[in-house]
Amino acid sequence: MGKKESNKDRMKKKKVSAIKNNLYFLRLIWGISPSRVIYNFVNVFFDFAMWTFYSVTFMQFLFGAGENMRSFTEVAIFIWFAVALSMGANTFSAWYQNCFVPRTDIQIHYELNAMLFQKVQTVDLSCYENPEFYNTYTKAAVEASERTKSVLDNCAKVMAAFLSSFFVIWTMCSITPWALVFVALPLVGNLFVGKKLGKVLYDIEQESIPAKRRMDYVNRVVYFRKYSGELRLTNVFCILRNIYKTAMEETIATARKFAFKRSFLSIVKSVLMYVLGFEGMWVCAAVLAIRGRISLSELVVLVNAIVSVSWMLNDLENALSSIFSNAFFIENLRQFFGYVPKIDESAGGKEPPQQVDSIEFKNVSFRYAGQEKYALQNINLTLYRGVRHALVGINGSGKSTLIKLLMRFYDPTEGVILLNGVDIREYDIKQYRQRIGAAFQDFALFAATVLENVLLRESEDSIDREAAVNALKNSDVYDKIQTLRYKEDTLLTREFDNEGVELSGGERQKIAIARAFAGQAPVVLLDEPSSALDPIAEYKMFEIIAQLCEGEHKLSVIVSHRMSSAAACEKIFVLENGKLLEQGSHAELLAANGTYAYMFHKQARNYQTEEGGYDV
Ligand code: ADP
Ligand code: MG
Repeated sequence: MGKKESNKDRMKKKKVSAIKNNLYFLRLIWGISPSRVIYNFVNVFFDFAMWTFYSVTFMQFLFGAGENMRSFTEVAIFIWFAVALSMGANTFSAWYQNCFVPRTDIQIHYELNAMLFQKVQTVDLSCYENPEFYNTYTKAAVEASERTKSVLDNCAKVMAAFLSSFFVIWTMCSITPWALVFVALPLVGNLFVGKKLGKVLYDIEQESIPAKRRMDYVNRVVYFRKYSGELRLTNVFCILRNIYKTAMEETIATARKFAFKRSFLSIVKSVLMYVLGFEGMWVCAAVLAIRGRISLSELVVLVNAIVSVSWMLNDLENALSSIFSNAFFIENLRQFFGYVPKIDESAGGKEPPQQVDSIEFKNVSFRYAGQEKYALQNINLTLYRGVRHALVGINGSGKSTLIKLLMRFYDPTEGVILLNGVDIREYDIKQYRQRIGAAFQDFALFAATVLENVLLRESEDSIDREAAVNALKNSDVYDKIQTLRYKEDTLLTREFDNEGVELSGGERQKIAIARAFAGQAPVVLLDEPSSALDPIAEYKMFEIIAQLCEGEHKLSVIVSHRMSSAAACEKIFVLENGKLLEQGSHAELLAANGTYAYMFHKQARNYQTEEGGYDV
C-alpha cells in the first residue's frame, strides 16, 4: 500500500514538474518573442473554434432551420457569417504559418542558441569529462529550437482541445445523456491503451539509444575531414561498417521485439475509437431518431459531433503526451541553465597584480572527476619572474594538468596555488587569465583570419595589429604569412571560403605560439609548443622563446618531453607519475645523475642515431 502511494506521489510530482517545465519554456520564449506566444495561442484556438463551430453549431442551425421555421434571410445571413468567419481564420492562419512563424523561428533559434553559447562558456571544463553532463548539454542545445514549436503548439492545443471538446460533449449530452457513454468508454479505454502504447514507444527509444549513438559516431567519423586520411589509406572503414551494421541490426531487432505488442495495442485503440465510439453513437442516435426521441437536426449533430469530439480528445491526449515528453527535454535545458559552476567566472574578486613575481604550488594534488588515480600528487614548487622554467617528463606524467591548474581550468583537489603569496582563487578569474599568455598542446585554430587567430578576439586598432604582427614575427611564421594573398587578414581554413588557406602542422603551431606573446602577459605558459616542429625549427623556437621571456622579465613555463630543449631553461622540474621527482638547473640535474640525467643521455643518443645527427 505504502509503495503504491509513493508511486502515486511520484506520478503527481512528475505531472507538476511537466507543467512547471512547460511553463518555464513558455516564459523563455515569451522573453524572446511575446507575440509568437500570443499568436500561436490565437491560431490554435481559432482552429478548434472553427472546428467546433462547423461540426456542431453550423449543423445545428442549418438542419434545425426547418424545424425552427427560420426565414431565408436569416439562413443566408448565417451562412455569410460562417463564410466570413472561415475566410478570416484561414487568412490569419496562412499569414501566421507562412510569414510570421518562419521569421520568429529564426529569431528564437538565434536567441536561444546565443543563451546556450553564453552559458556553456561559464561551465567548468570538468563537465566536459562527465558524459552525462555532456549529453545533457548537447541534447539541450540540439533540441532547444526544434522543440519550440512543439511546446507552444501543444500547450495551446491542450487548452483549446479541452475547451472545445467540453463544449461539444455538453451539446451532445443536452440532446441525449447516452452520448456520455460513447464518449467516455473509448476515452477511458484509450487513456489506458495510450499509456501502454506510450510506454512501448519509450522502451523502443531507450533500447535503441546505445545503437543510435554508435551509428551517430560512424556518421560523424565518415564525414569529418580529420579522419579522411586514415579512412582512405587503411581498412579501418571495415571496422566502422561493422559497427554501423551491428548497430542497425540491433535497432531492427528492437523494433521487431516490440512489433506485436505495438500493433496489438494500436488495433485495440482503433476498435475502441471507431467501433465503440463512432458506430455505437450512430446506432444509438438512429434508434433514438426512429423512436422519435430526437429530431433530424439532433441526429445530424450527434453523428457529426461524435467524430469531432473523438478526434479532439485524441488531439488532447497526444498534446498531453507531447507535453510530458517535452518536459524531459526542458528539464535538461533547465539543468543546464541552472548549473552553478565550481569555478565561477562571474564571481569577481581581487584584481591580480600587473607584475607577477612568483607562483607557488603548495602541497597541490589533483584528481580528474571520476578518476581514482591522482594526476598530480603533493606538488611543491615555486616559479619566479625572469626565470625560464621547463617542465619535463614522459607522456601522462602530469605536465599538462599542472598547466591547466595554473590557468584555473580546474582547481586543485588539495593544496593551494599562490600568486605573489595570494591564493589564485581570490583573484577575479577573467583578469587572472589575462595575466597569462598560453599555447596549449591541443590548441585549435578557428575559421577566422590569421590576425584574429593570434589575438583571439577582434582586432580593434593598429596597436592590436602591431602586437599580433610582432608575435607572428617572433614565432617565426610572419614570412610565411606575408606570402598569403591577404597577409595577416587571410582567412584560415576553407570552411567557409575557397580563398581560405590551410597551413602545415608546424605553421599552425607557430600561430598558436604567437598567441602566447600577443597579449604581452607577464606569465607565459607553453605546453609542448614545438611538438609539430622539426628539430631545427624546434631549437630555433626555444631560442626565440628564451629571448622573449628574458628580455621582458616574464615568468615562463615551457613543457617539453624533449630533454634537449629543456636544457636551455634555467630551472627544470621533472615530473613522473604525477609526482615532482627532481628540480634544478641542467648542470645540477646532470650532476645528480638521476632520472633527468638518464633521460637526457638516452634521448640525445636517440637523436644522433634515429634522426641523423640533430643533437641539440
Ligand atoms: P602529460 O601532459 O604529462 O602528458 P597529462 O597532464 O595530460 O600528462 O595527464 C596526466 C594524467 O592524467 C594521465 O594519466 C592522463 O591519463 C590523466 N588525464 C589527463 N586528462 C584527463 C582528463 N581530462 N580526464 C581524466 N584523466 C585525465
Ligand atoms: Mg601534455
